[in-house]
Amino acid sequence: MKVISKTHVGMVRNNNEDSLLVREPFLFAVADGMGGYSAGEVASRETLRAFEAATHDLRHQKDCDVVEVLLDAFAKANKHTFVLAQKNSAYKGMGTTLTALYLPGDNTAYAAHVGDSRLYLYRNNTLSQITKDHSYVADLLAQGKITSSEAFNHPKKNMLLQALGVEEEIRTDIFHFALEKGDILLLCSDGLSDMLRDMEIAHILEASDFENAATALLEQSLDNGGKDNISLIMIAVEEDD
Ligand code: CA
Repeated sequence: MKVISKTHVGMVRNNNEDSLLVREPFLFAVADGMGGYSAGEVASRETLRAFEAATHDLRHQKDCDVVEVLLDAFAKANKHTFVLAQKNSAYKGMGTTLTALYLPGDNTAYAAHVGDSRLYLYRNNTLSQITKDHSYVADLLAQGKITSSEAFNHPKKNMLLQALGVEEEIRTDIFHFALEKGDILLLCSDGLSDMLRDMEIAHILEASDFENAATALLEQSLDNGGKDNISLIMIAVEEDD
């Protein structure tokens, strides 16, 4: 397995509210925080910290129920950040996306997801978005009310339907799929997927080797405007992952 992660403040913002978790070879996550002043940074960082602590069983207990542990870790991370936001007026209204990937090492992948950060799978020159954005615009698109091009340019693109830390309960999506040699997994914040259409991401992955592709994804996001913080984690699946 090869892993590369990158995060960049972008061309417009003064602070980076994205946080990354990279625990090779099994646990990876992107969190994209929101909130006034530094609250977005606190939300993404604290949520990842609580999430990682709550996934302890994945590393130390061979026969645990992975889906149950992931759902529980999301619930605990949500609660942790929700309580912080309630207790401190400077953190009021803060929240974060969380998209996490767990690779137990048996050629399977588990993803858990809330918000509009994304997990993509690039396989046989085809890019698929595994996660579904919990956003107003993604719902309009799913209902056939707008086209994908209208979705990409929609003014309410960043309106989330749920995030961690905002409400007491969350509904976490879980995905489970088999890995194949040559797969590339891409976790990213919307600072990347808002700047690059799926077709552009696929072209970059097709045209460059693994290391150069990560750099090119970041640079193209910046060239296209870099309107938000940009984060990505790329994982190349090799033999015996
Ligand atoms: Ca963002």
